[in-house]
Amino acid sequence: MITIGIEGTAHTFGIGIIEKKGKKCTILSSIKKTYFPDKGIHPREAAQHHITVAKDIYLEALKKAEIKEKDIDLVSFSMGPGLMPSLKTAAIFARTLSQKLKKPIIGVNHCVAHIEIGKILTNAKDPIVIFVSGGNSQIIGYSGGRYRIFGETLDIAVGNAIDKFARIAKLGNPGGPKLDKAAIGGNYIKMPYSVKGMDFSFSGLLTSASTKIDQNKNELKDICYSFRHNCFAMLTEVAERALSHTEKSEILVVGGVAASETFKNMLNIMCKERGAKAYAVPTEYSGDNGAMIAWQGALEHSAGREHKIEDTHVTPKWRTDQVEIEYIK
Ligand code: AMP
Ligand code: MG
Repeated sequence: MITIGIEGTAHTFGIGIIEKKGKKCTILSSIKKTYFPDKGIHPREAAQHHITVAKDIYLEALKKAEIKEKDIDLVSFSMGPGLMPSLKTAAIFARTLSQKLKKPIIGVNHCVAHIEIGKILTNAKDPIVIFVSGGNSQIIGYSGGRYRIFGETLDIAVGNAIDKFARIAKLGNPGGPKLDKAAIGGNYIKMPYSVKGMDFSFSGLLTSASTKIDQNKNELKDICYSFRHNCFAMLTEVAERALSHTEKSEILVVGGVAASETFKNMLNIMCKERGAKAYAVPTEYSGDNGAMIAWQGALEHSAGREHKIEDTHVTPKWRTDQVEIEYIK
């Protein structure tokens, strides 16, 4: 069965086409474009960006997949969570396509899609998932029909903290890779480390690192190194405790920040010491993309789910643990 996935929760518009045969997922194409503003995302401008690029991305996705429109069996789209104007753009595109092709439509949860694309591409079976992106930071584990959240950020997401810091430090966009470059050769200086129970927070760390830049007393590479170190050390600590609590034996990192080699190295060391396995979604599919939305739609459809067109309104607030998972037996 061939599924097309439309992703548009935030600043990326993506279309992916996958083929599901039994439990196997083949990604036929995944095309995306991201809007990079100078100062943080303006929701209306993000939606305008998506409208502008949608048609070309769609045609390129079909071409790369070497299929025709009529070969599509199912239309899946990111129904939430996310920014309302962006979500609406993706939903309108998906509804139009579903009605034009007379094929079923399904709206899926973007966060769960990040998890499932990570699982299928790494072959992780029942991991503690570290979901880290521009809008989310959660430590998650599956139990009894839902992805349960063991710990999460109390304020901003780690990717958001990294991007804001990179802007303040005038490192440019995208924040993660620029920060890595700027941290080379840096040494650790003391900065806030905020783990509260199983939750964590990044805003104090961001303020401290930003203030140090203004004060000009420390070398930039030391500030960058230490800011990055504390971001990832906090997440690693909570992930380790979730592993210990659940007695699971795998870690899987997904979301845009999963592209960080520094973070993956830290997780590898932690897992090695515990005798656990560390997996990371391949970088090509770590950030927002349409292939993960297509795969999520195909999984849910295999358990008998689809939406009536009138029930496809978007849900800007939709937590990972509100989704009932019917396809895991
Ligand atoms: P997403 O919201 O899933 O598209 O992820 C975007 C986030 O991933 C942004 O905040 C980026 O700064 C972050 N990101 C991308 N590459 C890296 C990297 N190499 N290291 C850390 N963060 C990264
Ligand atoms: Mg995302």
